[in-house]
Amino acid sequence: MSEDGLPPLRDVIAQHDLRADKKFGQNFILDLNLTRRIARTAGDISSCDVIEIGPGPGGLTRGLLMEGARKVFVIEADKRFLPALAKIAAHYPGRLEIVQGDALEMPPESLTDQPYRVVSNLPYNVATPLLTGWLQAAWRDATWQPQFLSMTLMFQKEVAQRIVAQHGEKAYGRLAVLARWLTHADLVFDVDRQVFVPPPKVTSAIVQLTPRATPLADAHPKTLQNLTAAAFGQRRKMLRASLKQICLEPQDLLARAGIEETARAEEISVEAFCKLARLLDGAPS
Ligand code: SAM
Repeated sequence: MSEDGLPPLRDVIAQHDLRADKKFGQNFILDLNLTRRIARTAGDISSCDVIEIGPGPGGLTRGLLMEGARKVFVIEADKRFLPALAKIAAHYPGRLEIVQGDALEMPPESLTDQPYRVVSNLPYNVATPLLTGWLQAAWRDATWQPQFLSMTLMFQKEVAQRIVAQHGEKAYGRLAVLARWLTHADLVFDVDRQVFVPPPKVTSAIVQLTPRATPLADAHPKTLQNLTAAAFGQRRKMLRASLKQICLEPQDLLARAGIEETARAEEISVEAFCKLARLLDGAPS
């Protein structure tokens, strides 16, 4: 038995014949010391709900419960894991709720009305759309009203770097603008590929996002989204050329924002993108 009184994850996988399926982006962590460390990174999980996407055989789920999570909701797409997860739920009565389905179609708010933390070793094939979907869903009545207290998420390292990048850095793009606009995002630690079964091709990293009380600067989300899509869609072009798709007189817009017309998207701070978005909407800057 492992220290939580449940069988070691290797035995769980063998007993239920849970071979990893590439289609679902499955790479499992079997080391409970590591999953407990990830759970501790999330902060206080004893007084809020926790939502985990893709529990698989339950390594991170068990780490969360061992570290005192009050209540964990897991969403798993692959039905094969349900019997193994049910055994964890029986071991922790009332503290684990299992939902089968596609997390892309289940916003966390559909599971709980309590403040919650998301903690997940994300399936790589849907990791970015999940994050952007959660950030978009936290807008209600055109107001940023996050119900999440934090998100502690494992990504491929290259994606993690794209989330935390600052302007002027190579990895800076639409994802970094969105994340920095709405959250404080930090890369907390790298996770070696060898800790996974089977090992993925690349290193992974944990990113911790905590929501800002208000966005970094005023802007309409849709305008900012269209603006960064145009600017970074042709990231090697100067903004006076790339912004032609969304604005008749980009040179005039850039001049009013105090931005060189020869600048490229990756040089523009989040605050400056917000200023451009406000000018596009005709609001006072
Ligand atoms: N949490 C486990 C661990 O750390 O060992 C497994 C992580 S594995 C990288 C990703 C998990 O997400 C798999 O269990 C996979 O079946 C599940 N998954 C993939 N796509 C999903 C989706 N759209 N919705 C919910 N779960 C999904």
